[in-house]
Amino acid sequence: MARQTAPRAEGTLLLVNWENPVPFDRPEGLVTQAEIFGDEVVLVNGEGSVNREAGEAAKRMFLAARAEGIGRYKISSAYRSIAYQEKLWQARRRQDPCYGDDPYTNPVKAMPGCMSEHTTGLALDILSENHETANDAYGETPEGRWLAENAHRYGFILRYPEGKEHITGVIYEPWHYRYVGVEAATEIWERGICLEEYLGA
Ligand SMILES: [Zn+2]
Repeated sequence: MARQTAPRAEGTLLLVNWENPVPFDRPEGLVTQAEIFGDEVVLVNGEGSVNREAGEAAKRMFLAARAEGIGRYKISSAYRSIAYQEKLWQARRRQDPCYGDDPYTNPVKAMPGCMSEHTTGLALDILSENHETANDAYGETPEGRWLAENAHRYGFILRYPEGKEHITGVIYEPWHYRYVGVEAATEIWERGICLEEYLGA
């Protein structure tokens, strides 16, 4: 029997990647980061938006981390419009005209305008007061390690794991977390797979 195309994931399981452009520019359910987080975390752009459900789950996660003595987190980015993402992408392409031409071999850090899951409002770039740079070393800090071990309990996955670059087309990003809900996040974490593998895409 011919294999059907993978079922289109929706809602918190919406798949956005090199093969699946984001189907909207501004989803419903966005609220400002300042409204959700208050002073619990450092906000680079408090007026920036985030999906309410994802934001509330992230806040529970940050409170739990703090209760365990982990340093204060810093949200550097959450929702981005397609136009804003396209600016980031074009800046990369100006530096390197071949950037993103073969992402499964040479994975990227910035996606084209219509292919960033930041546009869903479900993705957060989470750094910390102790480590404000988005690089590999963040994953070795106490804050980065705590997220890697515990984020699934709050419905988040490390979206671009080390070793899955040939599937995601994106470099290892220990700061980029994606809300998928507790059930999916727990299974993804336990099986050590990425979202594409979980969805059979
Ligand atoms: Zn990100």
